Amino acid sequence: AKEAGRGGFCFFAADMNAQALQRLTLENDLRRALENGELEVFYQAQVALADGRLTGAEALVRWRHPEKGLVSPAAFIPVAEETGLIVSLGEQVLRAACRQLATWQRQGLPRLTVAVNLSPRQFRQPDLVDRVAAILAETGADPDWLELEITESAAMQHAEETIGALRRLREMGVSLAIDDFGTGYSSLSYLKRFPIDKLKIDRSFVQGVPGNGDDAAIVQAIIAMARSLGLALLAEGVESEAQRDFLQAQGCAVAQGWLFGQAVPAAAFERDHLARHGA
Ligand code: C2E
Ligand code: CA
Ligand code: CA
Ligand code: CA
Repeated sequence: AKEAGRGGFCFFAADMNAQALQRLTLENDLRRALENGELEVFYQAQVALADGRLTGAEALVRWRHPEKGLVSPAAFIPVAEETGLIVSLGEQVLRAACRQLATWQRQGLPRLTVAVNLSPRQFRQPDLVDRVAAILAETGADPDWLELEITESAAMQHAEETIGALRRLREMGVSLAIDDFGTGYSSLSYLKRFPIDKLKIDRSFVQGVPGNGDDAAIVQAIIAMARSLGLALLAEGVESEAQRDFLQAQGCAVAQGWLFGQAVPAAAFERDHLARHGA
């Protein structure tokens, strides 16, 4: 029995080691990627449902891995968050997106918002606002074109500090969106205290409309909530015309999703979306 126990323990330990090793490899790989500039920012269109006009773009990170090819953020954002690498990753993405939007400004395009994701860990940095200000100054990006997306749960933790940081970002002219809205637990009264501009309706609810009654009710409730708080709205993950039509009929004016285009490299975004923007 003792032998089996020991064997069992060894097997378990080996298993743990394999997992830890895999994580460590990913962590080191990611560290190298950050140093070598292997991360690239893709852009996904955000459009007005009434006329299909472009209103903005969400910046979404991709990893051009030398051996694995294009790696999706789901495969490395969680490890980046756990190890703290997300802070420098997030800054690289913000800097790249601000450079890009400064270029678009200089080309004389009508205003569009470029939305950048802020991770909970980034959001908890005491000097976040100064870092954002420094990147705006360095790249020459107009803060009026920049939107930062934070998740509901990140915003609800340490509410008092959060409200202060959000307020200062907004004073700089940056706008703020709550990402994946509906997946957290914010109440109307809680939300009212947050100086935000927009709610992004989570894709999990959009997926079910118009057929699923629960999802349709949730989407309608979020739209009513945004309206009563005077917040802008964007529906995420719109894939079908039926979803688009439902959202528009309910009063959600802006959306993002495969129906309008996937996230693509900047050059493809310019060709597919910006060529017609304001032309
Ligand atoms: P998210 O912020 O909710 O971004 C939306 C995700 O939905 C993106 O996945 C996008 O490609 C995908 N998507 C858009 N339209 C559709 C659609 O019609 N159908 C479906 N099925 N999916 C759609 P992606 O690019 O793989 O990113 C996944 C998540 O990784 C993001 O979710 C975000 O949480 C995180 N992420 C991506 N880039 C960054 C970043 O720069 N910083 C941080 N902190 N997180 C990031
Ligand atoms: Ca997002
Ligand atoms: Ca503004
Ligand atoms: Ca989202």
